[in-house]
Amino acid sequence: MSTIYTTTPLFPDLIEQLETAGHEVLIREGWGDAQALEAADALICLLNDRVDPTRIAACSHQLKIIANVAVGYENIDVDAARTSGIVVTNTPDVLTESTADHVFALLLASARRVVEADAAVRQGAFPAWGLDQAFTGLDVHGKTLGIVGLGRIGAAVARRGRLGFGMSIYYCTRTRRPDLEHELDAQHVSLEHLLETADFVVVLVPLTGETHHMIDRKAFLHMKPTAILVNASRGPVVDESALVAALRAGELAGAGLDVFEQEPEVHPGLRQCSEHVTLTPHLGSATRDTRHAMAQLAVDNVLAVLDGNPPLTPVS
Ligand code: NAP
Repeated sequence: MSTIYTTTPLFPDLIEQLETAGHEVLIREGWGDAQALEAADALICLLNDRVDPTRIAACSHQLKIIANVAVGYENIDVDAARTSGIVVTNTPDVLTESTADHVFALLLASARRVVEADAAVRQGAFPAWGLDQAFTGLDVHGKTLGIVGLGRIGAAVARRGRLGFGMSIYYCTRTRRPDLEHELDAQHVSLEHLLETADFVVVLVPLTGETHHMIDRKAFLHMKPTAILVNASRGPVVDESALVAALRAGELAGAGLDVFEQEPEVHPGLRQCSEHVTLTPHLGSATRDTRHAMAQLAVDNVLAVLDGNPPLTPVS
């Protein structure tokens, strides 16, 4: 029998799967039980659980796997885990389509001012229909969609843009994607060119040393004043103070943000911006089916490793 420490209450059917396989499941929200963690064979954790070298060292004599219930894994010191012989896994693919849906929800809501208009209607301020009435927005169909990071989720967003909304696709990655260039007529361009051309800039890169503040003051100066930025990657990829300054200066039209630099804190300047601005609390993968699929994949990884088999989705 192995012991599995989970920092989050898992779905009941998944706990049953682990117990049926003969394991003990310790549900401890967060890091509350250091003794139990040190004795655990497997750890299931969330993206806001920081697994640093000290924590890894404390449980390295017993721990075999850290299963992150997220595709991003910047919360885990993967090098320290590897040095200690601990496998790290994430949950790619199962959240791709739901996250792409949410990206488009942010894009549409920001362009068409859905949240602002909803608030006005609820307050009884129903504007008169007119040619240039309140909450007049920006078109999405037929516009240019610039995707920074055309990986799994970026490609799913590109398909929605190209096939659903007839948009032209520009993308920026370190490696070209000839398959998507062929499928979606996507054009590989420099970040600068993408920022200067796109009507909608969607950021979907992982958070790394290279991507930290990739969208900074300089980037905003390249964007069209009519453009909208959508960030559903990780907060620190965008310099939030620079974004607030750019929004206030009218250097871009708006933003749809699902992630923030200091979650759960949100820059006060951002909270004050409402025109063409939509803020959601890290909801990209938050559908019932997808969250269950993510937890299931984490459990499958744990079961594989505890059985002495290779993990399904190790991080590289
Ligand atoms: P992925 O398949 O690994 O795609 C990442 C893309 O970013 C790749 O195209 C990669 O291409 C590109 N990239 C990496 N470093 C880059 C750089 N320095 N410059 C330009 N492009 C770069 O990952 P994914 O599954 O699509 O997920 C992307 C990210 O979305 C995750 O890491 C996570 O942070 C975030 N996410 C957020 C939510 C949410 O709830 N908001 C949900 C899921 C995921 P190259 O390597 O060729 O450069």
